[in-house]
Amino acid sequence: MAVDDINMKTRKGSERCKEIIKDNLLVIFMIIAVIIGVAMGLGLREQVPTSDKRTIFYLKFPGDLLLNMLKMLILPLIVSSLISAMSGLKAQASGKMGLRTVIYYLVTTFCAVILGIILVVSIEPGYKRNSTIDRSGSAKAAEGLPSLLDLIRNCFPSNLISACFEKQETVLKYEQIKIYPEIKNITMNSTDMNSNTSSTMNMSTTMNMSTTMTMSTTTEAPQPKIVDGDLQSISLNTVGGMNVLGLVVFSLFFGGILARIGEQGKPLVDVFFSLHIVTMKLITLVIWYSPIGVTFLIASKLVSMEKPEEMFTQLGYYMLTVLVGLAIHAFIVLPLVYFIFTRKNPYKFMYGMLQALLTAWGTASSSATLPVTMNCLEERNHVDPRVTMFVTPIGATVNMDGTALYEAVAAIFIAQYLGVPMDFGKVVIISLTATAAAIGAAGVPSAGLVTMAIVLSAVGLPVEEVRLILAIDWFLDRFRTAINVLGDAYGAGIVEHLSSADIEAMDLEVEKASINDEKSNGVVNEAFNIKTAVDTKM
Ligand code: ASP
Repeated sequence: MAVDDINMKTRKGSERCKEIIKDNLLVIFMIIAVIIGVAMGLGLREQVPTSDKRTIFYLKFPGDLLLNMLKMLILPLIVSSLISAMSGLKAQASGKMGLRTVIYYLVTTFCAVILGIILVVSIEPGYKRNSTIDRSGSAKAAEGLPSLLDLIRNCFPSNLISACFEKQETVLKYEQIKIYPEIKNITMNSTDMNSNTSSTMNMSTTMNMSTTMTMSTTTEAPQPKIVDGDLQSISLNTVGGMNVLGLVVFSLFFGGILARIGEQGKPLVDVFFSLHIVTMKLITLVIWYSPIGVTFLIASKLVSMEKPEEMFTQLGYYMLTVLVGLAIHAFIVLPLVYFIFTRKNPYKFMYGMLQALLTAWGTASSSATLPVTMNCLEERNHVDPRVTMFVTPIGATVNMDGTALYEAVAAIFIAQYLGVPMDFGKVVIISLTATAAAIGAAGVPSAGLVTMAIVLSAVGLPVEEVRLILAIDWFLDRFRTAINVLGDAYGAGIVEHLSSADIEAMDLEVEKASINDEKSNGVVNEAFNIKTAVDTKM
């Protein structure tokens, strides 16, 4: 009897164990993938020199495949999700849901910025600097106002087809000016000066490049610094990369109109809804490949890293500030907001998103992670598909808490490093522009570094000084991308909870309508279609 009991318990225990493993297989694979990726990368660093670009290129190949597969799904996913969601929601419900979503995005992004500012002002990483930060190299980015205008312009692409692979960007051309540092005891022969005699002098001069001058020096002249002079031309250029914002705006309006025209729009609604289901099925396939891709993405990055020890020591305090801020936002602020609104366990919800968070960390792209984010929300956290279809594509495009926090910290770090005082007014400007810059950043690797220009130029800091933090950016990018994805996920959970009454009312209404429609052989409401079809699709 006792032996039977023990056998029974053991069997139950092992069955439960098997069940847990089966339920979490992908997460387990993903964690193993990250561990193997790091171990492989560190191991290979001994064998493969960073200059061996060919080996690194081949090593990255399985990772490139993953990135391509995920990116391939972004277009059908965003368009089909948003159009289906908008056409399935009643105008009033989508309006309310939209408002809640926007408020959540703005409030949490602003919280992240404030947190970043508090940390960077108290830790002061820019003053605890190690003066050997590499200041060489160049970073070119657009100025503040043109970047903001680009953001608005890209919301309305002039051509929908080209929006799938390119966007517009303002290009400013400046006159190049050489600044010569102070040179002591220089012997100079100048053809432009009315003298052929050699003279000895101290000079510090600014020189327009178009001026012709010949110099011969008796000492080795230091390299001149090239800076921008007057603006010569301003024009619009197209740059590669999907204009996600434009597609989001178009899909929102397109879906909204489809909902209004009712019966006439039904064939199109069906098309986009079928497209959504097929895309979600494809995502499930790609997700099974993601552990392999992530392993090689991490390994190749670690192998290609030059002088990591130096990088970490020089920018250690700055890195610490950003990472502490991201950790507080991820483990305290966002879970607290989620708990306050839903009264559910935020860490269980976070665990359900683990697969997406690891993918975000591996790819450094929240857009590429979008398919996995939606899958985790629906499959593991059981968020209503009508909410995920509406909230996450917009979130992956505009909601970036991690990026906002990082932008605020980076801007003040640069000011501290350069010894530029930041008064209260400037800090307020930084908090507002960091929020705008995060909204404007695309969900691709290092996008935040580019939109930093908005923040820096708003407070009069030299935009080219982003070079100070360039070396460490790839590393921080992974963490902030994971936080961006987490913010979107909690947003979906909160909006679903707050909209539950609307959703229930909608279900009830459509159920009634469907009964009436059945009686009169009519149409079943689309919102009900979406709910039931998505519920049974997997
Ligand atoms: N890589 C980030 C993302 O995809 C954007 C950034 O901060 O650079 O969300």
